[in-house]
Amino acid sequence: MSEHAKLREDICTLAKSMFDRGLTAGSSGNISARLSDGSVLVTPTGRALGFLDPAQISHLDANQKLLSGDPPTKETPLHAAFYETRAGTGAVVHLHSTHSVALSMLPDTDPDHVLPPLTPYTIMRVGKVKLLPFFLPGDPAMGDAVRGLAGKRSAVLLANHGPVVAGKDIWATAFAMEELEETAKLALITRGLSPRMLSPADVEAVVRQFDIDW
Ligand code: ZN
Repeated sequence: MSEHAKLREDICTLAKSMFDRGLTAGSSGNISARLSDGSVLVTPTGRALGFLDPAQISHLDANQKLLSGDPPTKETPLHAAFYETRAGTGAVVHLHSTHSVALSMLPDTDPDHVLPPLTPYTIMRVGKVKLLPFFLPGDPAMGDAVRGLAGKRSAVLLANHGPVVAGKDIWATAFAMEELEETAKLALITRGLSPRMLSPADVEAVVRQFDIDW
């Protein structure tokens, strides 16, 4: 199977898996992956992630011009901003996952570091997650806000909307997204219960051990 065909299959497999587990509802969420020639495959607009056909996936050139497939998600500028600013980005996943969205709405959420240090895995897979402001759906300013981070973050949380994660390939990116959502869930269910967080020394040890950009 060609790189192109395999990536189409992988996008549909992961999209269905995430949809089936309730990680994004209705026709929300979108996934993209970059091919070695610099062109990008992205999920089409208005389609539920659980019911994608590999042939319908939008194929865009490096300037987001549609080469084949259905029209792409209106959130394509969000994906493009990560490819432009983070060298080595092979995939971007964006969901409207409930617990992350809930965390984005709470007044005591730290906008520079959304997830509390509850487990080592978010530190290893996601790093520090930045809260971005609320934007109207489809507003290209979302992409500009990501560009404003100058490639320093691999994950952001759009207020009252949902998380976006960039990674080296589609599998690692999907796993990082799931880690982000699970940690948001842990943060919410332990909220007000004084959970034992990782200490600053624990965090530092994880960052050093796994050579994390922190
Ligand atoms: Zn969205």
